[in-house]
Amino acid sequence: MKCINCEQIVEDNHSYCPYCGQKTDLRRLDFNQLMADLWNSFTDTEQGILLTIKQLVYRPGYVARDYISGKRKTYFNPFRYLVVMLAIVLFFVLKFVPLVLDDSNSTPENIDFLHFVFGNLNVFILLMSPIYALLIWLFFRKRQTNFVEILAFSAYLNGQTILFYMLSVVLFLITPSFAGITIVLFGLGICLWLMLAITQFYQTRTLSDILKTAAIVVLAQGITQGIIYISFLISRLRIGN
Ligand SMILES: [Zn+2]
Repeated sequence: MKCINCEQIVEDNHSYCPYCGQKTDLRRLDFNQLMADLWNSFTDTEQGILLTIKQLVYRPGYVARDYISGKRKTYFNPFRYLVVMLAIVLFFVLKFVPLVLDDSNSTPENIDFLHFVFGNLNVFILLMSPIYALLIWLFFRKRQTNFVEILAFSAYLNGQTILFYMLSVVLFLITPSFAGITIVLFGLGICLWLMLAITQFYQTRTLSDILKTAAIVVLAQGITQGIIYISFLISRLRIGN
């Protein structure tokens, strides 16, 4: 048989590939496999996070496809990737945001809103995976992907988006006079990257599928902002009472 990870020919009686060390009985992703992978990714160090970051920049959909179809030795586990990115962003946000907020000359209502958003940032960031997973599943439910596989894909998208936003903040801080352009370009770039990711994931380039990916990105944005705004209003009502 052929190793799914390195594609070398392996004798049938081997339970691990002698070339790369991946288990030979790995198949498509299901819940047990996912949990086993999650555990393994914490206990072994072979999957490279740097390789995963790099490949996610230009072939995000293929990375997720490869991971799901069995190349688990090559890439960082998507959920662990998300947790690592979240930890990094929260570390910086908790360190620097209070400084920025106290310094800005916005209205008290805006400051309240920003405090609310940054105070619940971990929740709002993590909303992205389930929202994208649901929308992708809805729009592409006729394809041969199960919900856990789409959730793994969405976790990669979520983690990588965090990284892109952190980069935009760094650029923002280095060149404050171009702040407006930076925000618009990164926002647009991330939307296009998300569309690229989904078309790669489903290996499609038809116009109707590209329009579907655009709809997913726009809807996800709207739903996320809606949830943030409504939860802000609810939190104000509670304070008011
Ligand atoms: Zn192998």
